[in-house]
Amino acid sequence: MTTGPRIGVFALQGDVREHLRVLGDLGVEAIAVRRESELDACAALVLPGGESTTMAKLARTFDLFEPIRQRIKEGMPAFGTCAGMILLADRIEGGAHDQETLGGLDITVRRNAFGRQVDSFEGDIDVAGLDAPVHAIFIRAPWVESVGASVEVLARVEQGPAAGRIVAVRQGSLMATSFHPEVGGDSRVHRLFVDLVTEER
Ligand code: GLN
Repeated sequence: MTTGPRIGVFALQGDVREHLRVLGDLGVEAIAVRRESELDACAALVLPGGESTTMAKLARTFDLFEPIRQRIKEGMPAFGTCAGMILLADRIEGGAHDQETLGGLDITVRRNAFGRQVDSFEGDIDVAGLDAPVHAIFIRAPWVESVGASVEVLARVEQGPAAGRIVAVRQGSLMATSFHPEVGGDSRVHRLFVDLVTEER
């Protein structure tokens, strides 16, 4: 059985199934979004991990880019993970030439920020609002270089050369993580988003 508002997962590219599974586990009605009519049927949207340049281009090709941007402007809750965080950022460092973002989050993200040495890694991090640390999986992840005044920092890297770097944020109805909470069987970060979607209604 599912309850509450329907949440879409942007499904032109990325780890769509993983997000659908976690949302399903939480009892949320979740659908894949590939066209505008599907977006219209959702109260909120997840932007998955994947390749932000490809996702932005496909969104243009399939006429989803402007509709999503518009919905975000109108206050639709959205949650971006990794590439999805990049898509939600107002500003990118290290982006591809002429890389577009949907925007909405008043943050600057640095793409592929952790560098080649630590391309992909895992670590436990504390996330604001959760009692116990999250085992976070980073895959060619961005970090948040800087945030605007209305952005709440939810998590930072705790150890290693990147200690202190911001990896989870919230601003109003928008949320983003550098890591992949859709991978690894812990649904608590998605729960935070679902709560936010429910609050907004
Ligand atoms: N490096 C990818 C990008 O720039 C993001 C990687 C990911 O989502 N795992 O879009």
